[in-house]
Amino acid sequence: MNICVVGTGYVGLVTGAVFADLGNDVVCVDNDAAKIADLDAGRMPIYEPGLEEMVARNVADGRLAFTTDLAAAVRRAVIVFITVGTPAKPDGQTDLGAVEDVARGIAQAMERYTVVVNKSTVPVGTGDFVREVIERHQARPVPFDVVSNPEFLREGSAIEDTLRPDRIVIGAPTQQVAMTLLELYAPLERPMIITDVPSAEMIKYASNAFLSTKISFINAIANICELAGADVTQVMKGMGLDPRIGSAFLAAGLGYGGSCFPKDTDSLVHTAATLGYDFALLRAVVDVNRERAAHFVDVIAKAVGPLDGRVIAVLGLAFKPNTDDMREASSLVLAARLQADGATVRAYDPIAEEQARKLMVGVDFADSAFEALDGADAAVIVTEWPEFSEIDWQAAASRMAGRLVVDGRNCVDPRGVTGAGLLYEGIGRASAR
Ligand code: NAD
Repeated sequence: MNICVVGTGYVGLVTGAVFADLGNDVVCVDNDAAKIADLDAGRMPIYEPGLEEMVARNVADGRLAFTTDLAAAVRRAVIVFITVGTPAKPDGQTDLGAVEDVARGIAQAMERYTVVVNKSTVPVGTGDFVREVIERHQARPVPFDVVSNPEFLREGSAIEDTLRPDRIVIGAPTQQVAMTLLELYAPLERPMIITDVPSAEMIKYASNAFLSTKISFINAIANICELAGADVTQVMKGMGLDPRIGSAFLAAGLGYGGSCFPKDTDSLVHTAATLGYDFALLRAVVDVNRERAAHFVDVIAKAVGPLDGRVIAVLGLAFKPNTDDMREASSLVLAARLQADGATVRAYDPIAEEQARKLMVGVDFADSAFEALDGADAAVIVTEWPEFSEIDWQAAASRMAGRLVVDGRNCVDPRGVTGAGLLYEGIGRASAR
């Protein structure tokens, strides 16, 4: 099938590469000319395991190409995917500006029947909005349909998630349109669910809101564990073994970040309010999450004492492991808070340093965890990169000036830390001290 994917970011580039790998002819479009030039030169704009090889293979085989020319790419396509960003406005509302721009461009280019698929995460009702924009901007009436096909990939395992998704959701206006998408996805042999367009849009938000709720729930439990002298990691284990609850997304820590959960929870609260429903439950989830970084700084300050003049080694900057994505990363708020309290932040991340440098001011960047720990008054683990759970704390202790290790993700074995004569402070782990 001839496919056009508009927006060559985490979702668009991975989706385009995978569709090409399945034997389709794919053109990926972006309005960022530098990004397209990089891709043409074989340079990946993002870090994603396995992506570079998959892109190179399909470009070499002539199934995958990159362009800034939306019109040309739309004209040759049977299906056009919209995968542009949908950031939050200050009031939580989703900014559909890029989606609208692309819909207008599609309308102006379209010459024959086209299936327009919204893969960006968009509020319920956006399918109708995209249809209206296209109708309004067509030079002459050309038939088309708008489908919602929300994306569930996770950064860091995006290729694997796209090849083996838990489910493929197709929100289509008719069975016939749904069939086009079913045919495209058939080679993956994964469960598919066909719904109407608004339900598909809601499935995405409801899923992210539910996962965020699990995270904030266990973080609230962690707060109580700290006050009560319990260990949230044991509580999590005990809860997670109940199959009705499950252990996924039940890890206490610095809260959720990244480019999806924060904006999607805000957006759903906003959409609900617009429709006349006060989603108080989700508002509380958002509030619990917002308090995490400040709470963590309090934990550090309580253990280290006044932060003024202290050197704090921050281990991990990306919002989660296996990605260089710094959007809504806890490290940003945390570092700013530590600096505001007079501390020097010395940071290390195995992958995200380049992105972090664009966003963090006055931070010293180290080339390794040990370099960050040299002479530090405290070590603070912010992202649970696997290498941090394997740190040799005996060796670390001899480099550090202070004795404190604060584990913001409960990813380190406290016995390894305390065995090296250091003090361990986790999240919700009063009894692990
Ligand atoms: P991104 O910022 O990485 O990529 C978006 C791309 O769209 C950028 O390359 C940008 O230059 C391009 N773009 C913006 N306006 C454009 C225009 N008018 N014409 C052409 N290109 C344009 O975003 P992303 O992380 O890939 O997310 C895309 C969508 O997918 C969002 O709605 C997001 O919520 C959703 N989503 C993201 C993830 C994820 O893990 N990143 C997972 C599921 C869903």
